[in-house]
Amino acid sequence: MAPTPERFAKILRVLQKRQPTLTVLMDEVNKPHNLSAIVRTCDAVGVLEAHAVPPSGGKLAEFEGHTYDATSGSAHKWVKVNKQTDALAAVRELQGRGFQVLATHLSQRSVDYREIDYTRPTCVLLGAEKWGVGDGAAQAADHNIIIPMFGMVQSLNVSVAAATILFEAQRQRLAAGMYAAPQLAPADLAALAFEWAYP
Ligand code: SAM
Repeated sequence: MAPTPERFAKILRVLQKRQPTLTVLMDEVNKPHNLSAIVRTCDAVGVLEAHAVPPSGGKLAEFEGHTYDATSGSAHKWVKVNKQTDALAAVRELQGRGFQVLATHLSQRSVDYREIDYTRPTCVLLGAEKWGVGDGAAQAADHNIIIPMFGMVQSLNVSVAAATILFEAQRQRLAAGMYAAPQLAPADLAALAFEWAYP
């Protein structure tokens, strides 16, 4: 069915603000409500595509829309999640495409997440709820970043950490005018508009 003119205008407005140079890599994030919440935040800040290494032993179907829960809203329809088999390989592949990879990981070289320039092509690497980001991927990352914590508990929920960092990226990109003009190439924007309008 053809979309209404209002619906099509909204699709165009959203695509005109999509940020193909901002992404996340979820390394074995295994709770569907966390995955859903992260994808919803991705949609809100304009992430075009996200990446995820499924949890060990997890079913591939978990990343094909079956286990997104109500926490996602309908965000999983608008943010493609690419399956990756290995976090370290995905980090290297993204770096090869010019992305800086920021591992959310406490280490000797960790910096406050606000010290980073998010106007550069950026991937935020998020870790599993139980054991965090793997050491290999954290070492290969361009930076290790942390959200400073002053409480009794050592870490935030992964979706809260993702939102905190992605909205800092949004703040910097807004200031740099990166939402004022389309970041997608015209042909890609047109192809996606067609895909979204006629799912
Ligand atoms: N025990 C795990 C560890 O040692 O890393 C805790 C993992 S934490 C519950 C899950 C994920 O949330 C982390 O891998 C990271 O991606 C993110 N996270 C939580 N707190 C954070 C913080 N203060 N700064 C940056 N990322 C954080």
